[in-house]
Amino acid sequence: MSEALSSLDAHPGPEQGSTITAGPIPDLTQYDVITGNLSGGKDSWLMECLMMQEARDAGVADRVYTFHATLGALEWPSVQVGTDIFPSVSSLAALQSSASGIPEDRHLERTKMTLDDAPAVYDLLTYIAAYGRFPRLGTRFCTKAFKEQLEEAAMTPIINNLKVTLGLARTPTARKLARPIRRLKVLGLRSDESRDRAERPAYRNISSNSIRHTDEWCPAKDWTTQDVKDFHAASGFQHHWTYDSFPGAGDWAGTSRCSCSFCVLSSKRDLIISVRRRPRLADLIALVEAVRGDTFQAERSMHDLIELSQQKGGPDPGVVLDDETPEFEQMEKAVRVALSHPPRKEIERATLNRPRLPLLTEQSAPCDVRC
Ligand code: SF4
Repeated sequence: MSEALSSLDAHPGPEQGSTITAGPIPDLTQYDVITGNLSGGKDSWLMECLMMQEARDAGVADRVYTFHATLGALEWPSVQVGTDIFPSVSSLAALQSSASGIPEDRHLERTKMTLDDAPAVYDLLTYIAAYGRFPRLGTRFCTKAFKEQLEEAAMTPIINNLKVTLGLARTPTARKLARPIRRLKVLGLRSDESRDRAERPAYRNISSNSIRHTDEWCPAKDWTTQDVKDFHAASGFQHHWTYDSFPGAGDWAGTSRCSCSFCVLSSKRDLIISVRRRPRLADLIALVEAVRGDTFQAERSMHDLIELSQQKGGPDPGVVLDDETPEFEQMEKAVRVALSHPPRKEIERATLNRPRLPLLTEQSAPCDVRC
């Protein structure tokens, strides 16, 4: 890494809020470390391929890491149909990483843990049950606490090592550096997912302090959904089973998104498929709603979605999961314990001034971190 980084000295630190490269796309040689955020979804695979192509062309593929924050039992799990096993979201993210040429030790997968002496997985639904309210567009604590913070923590030891190996400080914990570590965070966001995404620059600075300067790059920004599907087909790499009408169909007639099985930003059609595919999880979410008095989406409750899904018509789930796994059992138990205590957020306060969700159709507006 040190050989390729020698050119960094020629690039002084940017102004606060400016990107390292003065232009519409980044020069990857100017970054010390590059992180591809993999959700396991279709856009992640495209992003990963575009990013790795650029990194190889620039001779800096050895600076690339991939990151996936897993939501455990809330994510789409693996399914077996006959003798075929279709991977979970987390497994597919790891496969995307290795298929793009990233060594195993540079794929970082993290999940939120409790802060006890004996840390255990802290799942999002238990967090919601304890907190007393569901995430919304303007208060998306799910992304913040379960993805972004985990990624920053995962990158800290890497950045600390770079301080020393790049000769910017004497010790990994040093707070005074010759210049900040330059990090590029690469996401699979696209313009046709939402208006917000369309207005967001493909390349921008997202944070800067004396230790880390972080820029964000969305190399797939101008690709259409159909382009992404065509790219998948041409690459020969599998897409997640939830996109299909049933695992292995390859018809993209399932859910339009792939991450949490029930995302607070999902469209009604996606949610009906999810309720039909994961009825036990839908019931658990409805229990949280009933006890806490907040609804899953601002204008749509899980209770109503369950009733709707029991009517005739609408999308066929293709597969129904029993969710009889130790992971699910553990989450269900933790949720019930959390519900037995008062909420950390009073619901009367929680429902005030909550922004309306943008109603999505077939489009997706997934987590910034590409969960
Ligand atoms: S997929 Fe949706 S619910 Fe899950 S963490 Fe991302 S924004 Fe939150």
